Amino acid sequence: MRKKSIFFLLLLSWTVSASPKNYGSLGSEVDFLDFGRVIAAPFSYSVSSSFHEEYGAFNLFDSDQKTYWYSSADLKPEWIIVDFGAKRLINAVEVVVPIFRGKRAAEEYEIQILYQENWKTIFKNSKVELVNLHTLPPIDASIIRLYFPKKEDRSIVIGEFKVLLNGAALNSIPARFTGYQYPVPGGLIPDKDIQLPGAPREYRNGIHKGLDIYYKREKIGPPRRLVFDDSLVSPADGTIIRADLDYSPMTLSEFQKYSALAQKNGVTFVEKDFGGRQVWIDHGNGVMSSFNHLSSIKSGIKVGAKVKSGEEIGKVGNSGLSGEAKGNDENIHLHFELWVDGEYLGAGIAPSQMRKLLQFFFSKSDLRWPGVPTN
Ligand SMILES: [Zn+2]
Repeated sequence: MRKKSIFFLLLLSWTVSASPKNYGSLGSEVDFLDFGRVIAAPFSYSVSSSFHEEYGAFNLFDSDQKTYWYSSADLKPEWIIVDFGAKRLINAVEVVVPIFRGKRAAEEYEIQILYQENWKTIFKNSKVELVNLHTLPPIDASIIRLYFPKKEDRSIVIGEFKVLLNGAALNSIPARFTGYQYPVPGGLIPDKDIQLPGAPREYRNGIHKGLDIYYKREKIGPPRRLVFDDSLVSPADGTIIRADLDYSPMTLSEFQKYSALAQKNGVTFVEKDFGGRQVWIDHGNGVMSSFNHLSSIKSGIKVGAKVKSGEEIGKVGNSGLSGEAKGNDENIHLHFELWVDGEYLGAGIAPSQMRKLLQFFFSKSDLRWPGVPTN
């Protein structure tokens, strides 16, 4: 909450104090990224224009050279601003410019910093290649701009714009946070913030550490709720480190007893922790995933087994929840956790930012809601 209000203040003061003469009008997108420890420094960004939602400025910072910002080909110079909100030490930038429609998608650009009230060019590149790494004299700047001076340089396409200090990018997502597929094929991002990691809960030490996935898209028609037969898949290659093959459901009286105890003590026990039948997968590089409430585990999925990205590991269910104890189909969903270096992904990240981070993380899946869900 606090971070959000700081952001709005920043944005407000920027908008109010910035002279339009110097900044130009704010671009078609102004956005903010604060993914906690996932990126080195929270920043906002804006662009002079943007061709389309799918080729927007967000793609400039996703560590994927194949996604682009594509300018709208206005008859004016184009630019991209990264604003850290406070001074950062910077000594290099990297700009990725693909070949697009048979030619390099920008012929020339300048790197600028705001010097008093004017943009000052500190570097010019008129020999643009695919990956352009520019070492700069060390500077302390809070705002840096990539400027395309040629008006005839239309429809500029940029794959990445990284600001670096000693080789470490301050404004991009490390590779281990991207390239996964969603654990429910066709599954959709939770529509309620309470279903995201970091949401408050009365048990589990007060914090919900996973994603609650209830809906998936259909080939035709509106999204529908998950049912017992829906498949769950590994989001990436990995090794199974837990598979509850000997799981036994709680009776209703056990469920009530453990629920009361968890609420009284403000903790969740390792045994009878309401996660039900679980599978955990180690994906390497410190990234792990955990599947909860499964109705069954696919044969062959056991500790030590290797799985491929997209390989089925089990079926969705409601194990560990009251629906299972009552023997009905109430509350069927996947509770899915991502753990990075032993901490759940989402710790200290606001819901609006978490939604963006999940788009990065599951870059192999389309998580956008295609329409209004049934039921
Ligand atoms: Zn959950």
